[in-house]
Amino acid sequence: MQKLLVANYKMNGNKNFYQKVSKIINKQKLTDTLVLCPPFVYMPFLKIKNKNVAIGAQDICSVENGKSTGQINAQMLKEFNVKYTIVGHSERRANGESDALIAQKVNVAQGNDIIPIVCVGEKTKTAKLDVLTEQVKSALTLAENEEIVFAYEPVWAIGSGVQPTVEKINKAIKLVKDTANNLGFEVKVLYGGSVNSKNFQEVSKSNADGFLFGGVSNKIDEFITILKGE
Ligand code: PEP
Repeated sequence: MQKLLVANYKMNGNKNFYQKVSKIINKQKLTDTLVLCPPFVYMPFLKIKNKNVAIGAQDICSVENGKSTGQINAQMLKEFNVKYTIVGHSERRANGESDALIAQKVNVAQGNDIIPIVCVGEKTKTAKLDVLTEQVKSALTLAENEEIVFAYEPVWAIGSGVQPTVEKINKAIKLVKDTANNLGFEVKVLYGGSVNSKNFQEVSKSNADGFLFGGVSNKIDEFITILKGE
């Protein structure tokens, strides 16, 4: 099955980096769908010619118009051919982004034909997975029955070098899918959290429909190794 691979560059890179990423990605033969999510200001420097590669945003404003200093709305993203947006990344939740705001962002993204990739995950290694149910239900409150992706990203696994077992990833994926199905939604679920070239084979044994990569996206050679391993 074709996987969805998402590179979250976070607040990294510069013009040269994204020009280099474009050149290298354009040379790859990809069978999966790859979504590159640079900081907003670098979107124009991603000149992608590969039809399996899409541009994604790291966030989207929850409203389409109005007084929102510093925000980027859906129409602006559309001008740069953005097809996906990450919503509710744990780094944004940690800065106060609520489930209610995330639901609005899902709504505004879908209303503008941008596919939301909603991040959900428990905070600590020992925490129960129940929080996923609440996060998924809330994210779907204003959603249309259109394409929507979830990323299971345990907060404790992000940037830490440690990961859940494949068994736990599968349990979380099932919980997210079951919760969404019960509400009438078919969703894809990705895994994200410290994926690198060394552990990619292992996490690939999970039922994830794809992966969300953070830190490793910035290491171009290692990232390409992962893409080639697909
Ligand atoms: C992320 O921030 O979404 C992420 C998956 O980061 P990392 O791969 O660095 O853990």
